[in-house]
Amino acid sequence: MRILIDNGHGRETPGKRSPDGRLREYAYNRLIAGRIVQRLQTLDLDAQLLVPEQEDIPLPERCRRVNELCRRLGKDNVILISIHVNAAGHGDRWMDATGWCAFTTRGDTRADALATSLYEAASYHLPGKHLRTDYTDGDPDIESDFYILRHTACPAVLTENFFMDALPDYRFLLTVEGQQSLVNLHIDGIPRYLASAA
Ligand SMILES: [Zn+2]
Repeated sequence: MRILIDNGHGRETPGKRSPDGRLREYAYNRLIAGRIVQRLQTLDLDAQLLVPEQEDIPLPERCRRVNELCRRLGKDNVILISIHVNAAGHGDRWMDATGWCAFTTRGDTRADALATSLYEAASYHLPGKHLRTDYTDGDPDIESDFYILRHTACPAVLTENFFMDALPDYRFLLTVEGQQSLVNLHIDGIPRYLASAA
């Protein structure tokens, strides 16, 4: 199984930072995504970064890279996880929001099982933290037709790893423990899905 880890946005993407400018989403996503890929590789899993570049790679090109691999390897032999940090506002002031969540497209697909595995891991690795969920369709993930989820052939999940514009979340994101927890939940959740899908 090829595991593609996407890091949203690029160095030049406007906005996408904490109100004090210290946490920039493109850099944070790359930090977490890079560690996830490294750790998956040490587990002998076939993981790679979808966007090794520092600049913003437009969504159609990111989807083209994914779908090219889906064609080559078979779409059931590829999964995609896109790593993001959430924002409740526009980066001009601190907001009041909290939590971790994962998105899939609408409808029941294999991405729902992948997201559920990530939620199971999140509840273990983020004790005391709020998990944002939507159980109206029977599973915890939130459904939204984000471009990268809608235009890729393989199971795809987008994780929003807390809020960069809410102070308690922002402080957690900058701690070593916070970063390790985010890496660990992905490292744990992805193999859970692979075991259930095998
Ligand atoms: Zn983002």
